[in-house]
Amino acid sequence: MKSIHDLRTDDIACEALLGALDGRTQLVAIYDASDRLMFANSAFKHAFRLNRERGDITFADLVLRGILGQCGPRIGGDDASAVIADAIAARRERAGQRSFATELVDGRWFWMTESLLENDWIVLTGTEISALRSNEQAWIGAHERAVQEARTDALTGLANRRHSMSSLELAITAAAGTETPLTVALVDLDHFKQINDSHGHAAGDAVLRDFGEVCRHATRQTDIAGRIGGEEFLVVFPSTSVEHGVSAVERMRRQVLSRRVQVADDRAIRYSFSAGVCRVELSDDLNTTLARADSALYSAKREGRNRTVAWSAPLQ
Ligand code: GH3
Ligand code: MG
Ligand code: MG
Repeated sequence: MKSIHDLRTDDIACEALLGALDGRTQLVAIYDASDRLMFANSAFKHAFRLNRERGDITFADLVLRGILGQCGPRIGGDDASAVIADAIAARRERAGQRSFATELVDGRWFWMTESLLENDWIVLTGTEISALRSNEQAWIGAHERAVQEARTDALTGLANRRHSMSSLELAITAAAGTETPLTVALVDLDHFKQINDSHGHAAGDAVLRDFGEVCRHATRQTDIAGRIGGEEFLVVFPSTSVEHGVSAVERMRRQVLSRRVQVADDRAIRYSFSAGVCRVELSDDLNTTLARADSALYSAKREGRNRTVAWSAPLQ
């Protein structure tokens, strides 16, 4: 049996605690064993637009408001009753505390802690973490940009050599696993040294950028186009037969022939490329694939440039 003095101390402590928790950014709510809301501090009432709390409103009502996008937590999902059932089950799974981040409909983020007591009542506290969350988003954005930059050739915006090679390696593994065709093209701009020599290095760079643009527009989203050397490019065509790969490269070649690159106020130049195309065989690795495409490219150069040659096995 507690003395009167003890009870008063408890009351004062309780009042002080509730007062301390009644700021604008700290949510406090208490639910009974039937999930009826028995207490909510002013921040919680504000977040859920409540004017009464005791016993009238259940946890399911609050989740439904969130699903409808009115107030409270931002909750996705078409099947409201399934979402509510899941949420109710999760919070009563086991005694003790669980914590999670929640975004409210008004855009604020809270770190929620739910304590399931032995009498099956639940005490919820939530601390606003919107500032931390936006720092985290900024950090994730910076990380993604850094990864993207490390994979990109700065001049053309295409994949760089390392990323092209690792993408090709992945494509070879995927093709072998799914037994779908895979075609690869090595592309080398013709007489590029002459362009640099006649018009200057900046003109050469402009031609490289122009070809980067052609690659971006002429390839599908699942294709990989990369710059693997000075004026050498790799294009990987997943799920594509060698015939279709050759047609795609030929389309690019015709596009290139119709282009003029402005290298000075009064001068626009043309350029062309040669390409070697090969199909990746089941037993191929990166080196055998590149060696075959390179041998086809060598034939295209030898046969006069400005053409596409598909690799075919040498006659025995
Ligand atoms: P081919 O038709 O046989 O391919 O002849 P080519 O002149 O294109 O080939 P070659 O290998 O003789 O010359 C390639 C030139 O590309 C030499 C090099 O200075 C130039 N180059 C390499 N990287 C860059 C670059 O980033 N910018 C510019 N402008 N030129 C570059
Ligand atoms: Mg060249
Ligand atoms: Mg070259």
